[in-house]
Amino acid sequence: MLKYQQLLTKPHQKQWHTTRQTRVVQLTSLWQSFAVISPQSRAVIFDTSAAHALNHIEQSLKHYLNTHTDRANDNSRVHLESPPVKVVAIILSHMHFDHAGNIARLAQRYNCPIIAHASLHNALLKGICTMPQGANPLTRFMLRLSQLLKINTSTVQSIDPHINDGVAFLGIDNDIERDNEDISTVIKRHPEPLIFLPALGEHTHLKILLTPGHTDASLSLIIDDEIALVGDLFVNYLPFKRHIFPPFCNDKSAVIESWHKLLIKTPETCQLFLPAHGNLLSRRSLQMHYERLQNKIVR
Ligand SMILES: [Zn+2]
Repeated sequence: MLKYQQLLTKPHQKQWHTTRQTRVVQLTSLWQSFAVISPQSRAVIFDTSAAHALNHIEQSLKHYLNTHTDRANDNSRVHLESPPVKVVAIILSHMHFDHAGNIARLAQRYNCPIIAHASLHNALLKGICTMPQGANPLTRFMLRLSQLLKINTSTVQSIDPHINDGVAFLGIDNDIERDNEDISTVIKRHPEPLIFLPALGEHTHLKILLTPGHTDASLSLIIDDEIALVGDLFVNYLPFKRHIFPPFCNDKSAVIESWHKLLIKTPETCQLFLPAHGNLLSRRSLQMHYERLQNKIVR
């Protein structure tokens, strides 16, 4: 079982660059987490995989945060030493065991805020994951089986309320774009204290979209209007790429609406959509899947 789990989360070397020289690197394999690293050596971690993947994530982070791969040297695979990368935040796509498994440890390690949907505050502090329903008979059966076998998918390590001044959490409840006027990225303009995320630097543009469906509190991260990290809004590991619908979800029609939102809220320059499970999807493919299903799934 352990070997199988290690296979799901082994360190990975895939990475992508935007034209602004922001790097998106895949930290683990099938149960994926990513680091978004700016040319100014600042990073956000997007999702933290399952708890057993901690060693793999740490290895990948050590590799990527302490070295810099110059794009011009990609072909020769030359890694140039540069100042260590500073992790400024961890963004959680949603609160499931295979995404939030290491969030408490990594937030403590990097002493950085966690950005997640506002409704997840208590779930993070208590380490509670609520699995969604199966989207088809097979996954409904799998859920029942996991309950019978008492496989724990409902808890992860809770956030210590004493780290990061007890506010290890920036809840957002609306779509967010970086505010270019300020050195920091505005995560939430609230009448009470303003909540800021230290910027990744002048060249990197982050946008967080609420993309519910798999869960009510799911987020996607858009990087430089070119690459989208979408969590479990779709999967892409099945052969022939015919089915990308998430096997578990709370609201099928909301999934389709969120696919549409991704397509209309990002410009044509956004061509790569990276799920947590499986391979990237092109914009054209996402459009095709949306058009195929948009009228088929009703509430
Ligand atoms: Zn999930």
